[in-house]
Amino acid sequence: MSNIIVQKFGGTSVGSEERIAAVAKIVKEASKNNPIVVVVSAMSGETNRLIKLAKSFGDNPSKREFDALVSTGEKVSAALLAMALQQINVSAKSYSASQISQGITESGDVTTLGRGGSDTTAVAIAAQLGAERCDIYTDVDGIYTTDPRVVPEAKKIDVITMEEMLEMAGQGAKVIQIRAVEFANKYNVPVRVLSSFEPGNGTLISLEEKNMENGLVSGIAFQKDQVKFTLHGVSDTPGMAYGILGPLSDANIEVDVIVQNVSVNGKTDFTFTVSKEDESMATDVINGLKSSLEFDDLLIDSSIAKVSLVGVGMRSHAGIASTAFKALSETGINIQMISTSEIKITIVIDENETDTAVTSLHKAFNLDS
Ligand code: ADP
Ligand code: MG
Repeated sequence: MSNIIVQKFGGTSVGSEERIAAVAKIVKEASKNNPIVVVVSAMSGETNRLIKLAKSFGDNPSKREFDALVSTGEKVSAALLAMALQQINVSAKSYSASQISQGITESGDVTTLGRGGSDTTAVAIAAQLGAERCDIYTDVDGIYTTDPRVVPEAKKIDVITMEEMLEMAGQGAKVIQIRAVEFANKYNVPVRVLSSFEPGNGTLISLEEKNMENGLVSGIAFQKDQVKFTLHGVSDTPGMAYGILGPLSDANIEVDVIVQNVSVNGKTDFTFTVSKEDESMATDVINGLKSSLEFDDLLIDSSIAKVSLVGVGMRSHAGIASTAFKALSETGINIQMISTSEIKITIVIDENETDTAVTSLHKAFNLDS
């Protein structure tokens, strides 16, 4: 292990000349104790602007040119930050990914990790360098019990286990990208999430198991961009579920919550959720099954959301589901689907009720006190 620290600054953190100057000060301070490698996002709004520009030449620009275009945003931030650092007498050099032989295809074309890829880049570089830690600087001062923009009473968490963070990020807590957490977990990189706007220790994503004096639920994540597919009146024969899920998996579509109803007269309803970006592909896959699979009709509901309670404390406690159901019933929210795992309960509800559901669950599990 080296004493390098990798710092990553998100779009808002480098959103203006003033912000870049402020970031340079943070880097300068940290560089007094450790060698620093910085990963920056594009200035906020820039990637959207570039994508919009690309769309003026058709809905499906070639991947090569699209990546060439959208990768320019980060280069601008990196070069400006290097200048800002030099101005305050810190020696610094910016490098695009391809200059350090990554982020390119075999034939040398620029390629990207997609939206939010800089969290993953930062953790991957930290892993590769054997860095002491990866610090993700953003516009909130840490990881909260839920998105503080939705629940103002949300509380900052000082330490969260890697296991919990994997579930939180996987279920939609967009404060850090899921792939970044997966990388950190796989290569044992300690990660901290903290604010570039105000000083503080932020939240440590710990590689160690937490002692169990914590509450049952550590946090609540939610995802709105979800679609529910119901195959109504499927003939309930062995291999039916595989007959549906196999082709979806072959098409690289990730299926999340799955529910199969009790069958009546040899017929059942089979329901699952996918993310909205996979809606049209999943529709094609299911319609393509019509020759091999008998069902009455396909119902697609794209106004659903998933709300997930996450906590290692769930392992040793029963009754979490009933507390959640009570809280939701008191606010008149109908539960459409439920799935549970060892440290997570996911509930599917109407999309319009997401904020209310998250707020009432947050309260029911005393996360705001
Ligand atoms: P950056 O541009 O720095 O990558 P993001 O917008 O990707 O920043 O992530 C920060 C945002 O994540 C916060 O402003 C907050 O609204 C949101 N967020 C969602 N869930 C959480 C959570 N559990 N804790 C903290 N922030 C969260
Ligand atoms: Mg982000």
